[in-house]
Parts: sequence; structure tokens; C-alpha cells
Amino acid sequence: MAFLYESHRQRVLLQSGGAAQALAHEVQRRGAQRVMVIAAGTQAPTAAQITAGLPVVLRWDEVVMHVPLQVAQRARAAAGACDADLLISVGGGSSTGLAKAVALSTGLPIVSVPTTYAGSEATNVWGLTEGASKTTGVAEVVLPQCVIYDASLTTSLPVATSVASGLNALAHCIDSMWAPNRNPVADALAAEGIAAITAGLPEIVADPAGLRGRERALTAAYLAAVAFASAGSGLHHKICHVLGGRYNLPHAQTHAVILPYVLAFNGSVAHGAERRIAGALGAGSALAGIAALYEALDAPRALRQLGFPPDAVAEAAAALLPFVPPSNPRPVTVEDLRRLLAAACEGADPGVLQETVTITREPR
Ligand code: NAD
Repeated sequence: MAFLYESHRQRVLLQSGGAAQALAHEVQRRGAQRVMVIAAGTQAPTAAQITAGLPVVLRWDEVVMHVPLQVAQRARAAAGACDADLLISVGGGSSTGLAKAVALSTGLPIVSVPTTYAGSEATNVWGLTEGASKTTGVAEVVLPQCVIYDASLTTSLPVATSVASGLNALAHCIDSMWAPNRNPVADALAAEGIAAITAGLPEIVADPAGLRGRERALTAAYLAAVAFASAGSGLHHKICHVLGGRYNLPHAQTHAVILPYVLAFNGSVAHGAERRIAGALGAGSALAGIAALYEALDAPRALRQLGFPPDAVAEAAAALLPFVPPSNPRPVTVEDLRRLLAAACEGADPGVLQETVTITREPR
């Protein structure tokens, strides 16, 4: 047995209703005097409320999913022009992503207040998009130095968006079980994350204004993202990354749709991972657990409903092949990818990808 696990230094606080006080404390302990607040338009009123009284020199609300380079360049220039000494991001992965893009070129520290379950706040991964091509990279400077989770800021997240975002977190957990740098620490975090999201999402659906489900989902988002940051991108993330950039698909919903298909495909050979996932879901098999969860949540099922063109299955499969991680527990052919995408496009039963295969690698 051999593994590498690297931990990342962050202060992480969860306190419902406590964001304003926690931010004031954080700004004071850092001695920050010129704060740039980054929050997507929909989150701008929330951001204004929780940063009132702080030494804010700029409020930036031009936030676009997948961080187009031109938007990042405008935000970087504005950060320089106002001589900011701290970035505070309030919002989902898109707001955090823009703060990371600014930090990448300026070195400014980030304090992140996440309002979805995307988990970007817990990773050192940045992303920038130019045309249809998204570039990602890893840099310590983009890892937020402090994360403040306040579930009361997330009760406004619509149920359908909450479900898709929570399944994005679930995908971080499940994919980390067979990602290239899979390790027992990430496995443990991921299993705990699966259990937390499986408990939290049905509570959010039943009681969208309640805090308990939201707190569980935020906790799961953090566990999931730390596992993902450690284990790296597995087959699921590679597929979603390429599809999202190439066909401009919504991030969280694409993860939600693809997850059962990759689970069916890999789970049929990665027996150890399959058992851990099933156990964390509290189900007899991982696929049965996911099916029950998706049913209870009325989760998104079909890529075509997200805007993926059905006649693009073959070209998308060919585009995906070079991105398949060599360490994937089951060898992947272009025909496998075509079948996976064709099934996901229609929302077909993921079980069609589960047939017994002769594998050339040791199952994990
Ligand atoms: P998002 O940030 O675009 O948010 C989705 C929608 O929800 C937006 O319209 C936003 O305004 C709205 N919203 C957010 N919080 C809300 C709230 N509390 N109430 C009401 N509406 C709210 O989407 P996302 O799924 O959170 O993030 C996706 C982006 O994050 C993608 O660009 C993805 O690549 C990136 N991401 C990066 C990492 C990483 O490690 N670098 C990890 C996960 C996601």
C-alpha cells in the first residue's frame, strides 16, 4: 500500500446566522483595510448586508459561470485600481471562481462565503474559459484562506438548484473513490460526505427554509471538495468538464445527470468503492441507493433536457476519449463513451452500462 495525502491550511467556520460577525472578525484579525467584495448580481443584496460596516472599497457583481477570461481581466484591473488588500466572495462556485481568478494574478487572499454546494471554496483549483475551451490549474494562492458557511444565506437557493448543486457535491465524493490520486483519507471524507448529502438533500426538499438540511449540505460540500481536491479528477469530472465547456451546459445539473452512468460503469469493477458508496448511501448497492435518492429528489436525468444536442453523441465521445484518466478502474473505449452519453442523453436506465466486464487491472 502506498498513498500521498496533502492537507491544505484553511480556517473553516459553520455558523448559521453568523456570517456578518465572522466576516468582521476575519477582516479585523487580518488588519485588512481595503476589501473588494465579489458577488453575483443575485447575491449582491446578501453580500451588502453581511459586509455592511467593513472597509469595502469595491463591490463587483459581474460574475459569469466558468469565469470567461475577459471578465477575469476586468475584475483583476479593478482590484488593482482600487488597491484592494482582501477579496471576499459571496455566492456559488461562479463567484468563488472569479475571486480565484483575481487571486491567481494578484496574490490577494480570499475569504469565501459560499451559498451553493459546489465546493470550490475548499479546493486550490482555478478555472478560466476562453471561447469553448476551459483551462483549469492548481495553485495554492487561489485556495481561500478562510471559509464561512452560513446556512441562513442558502435558504433562498431554489429547491431544484439546491438538489443539482448537492448532487454536484455527491459527484465529488463518488468520483474521488477512483480518481488518480485516490487515498484512504479522501475515501473517508468522501464516505462521510455521501452520508451527509444523502441526509441533507431530502430535508431541503421537505423544508427548503429549514436550516438543518442546509447545514448538512454545506458540511457535505466541504467534505466532498476536500476529498476531490486530494484525489483529483476521475472519469466523471473529465466527462462533465469537456461537456460543460464544449456544449455550454449548466455545471451542477450536468454533474447530476452524468453521475449515475459513471457509477454504473465503474462500479461494476471497482468493488471496494462500490461497497463504500453503497454503505454511505445506506443501500444494498450503490446504484440502487442513487436511484432511490434521485427518485426522492426528482433529480435531473437527461442531458438533452439541459441543451445537449442528441446528434452530438458520437463527436462528444471522440472528444472525451483523450481525457479519460489512465488510472480509471475500467478501461474505456470510444464505444463505451458513446453508449454512456447516449444513455445519459435520454435519461435511460444506467444499469445498461453495468454488464460484467473482463478487466485488465486489479479492481479497487
Ligand atoms: P453558480 O455560482 O453559477 O450558482 C448557480 C445559480 O445560483 C446562479 O444563478 C447564482 O446566482 C444562484 N445562487 C447562488 N447562491 C444562491 C442563493 N443562496 N440563493 C439564490 N440563488 C443563488 O453555480 P455553482 O454550481 O455554485 O458553481 C459552478 C461554477 O463553479 C462552475 O464554473 C464550476 O466550474 C465551478 N466550480 C469550481 C470548483 C473548483 O474546485 N474550482 C468546484 C466546483 C465548481
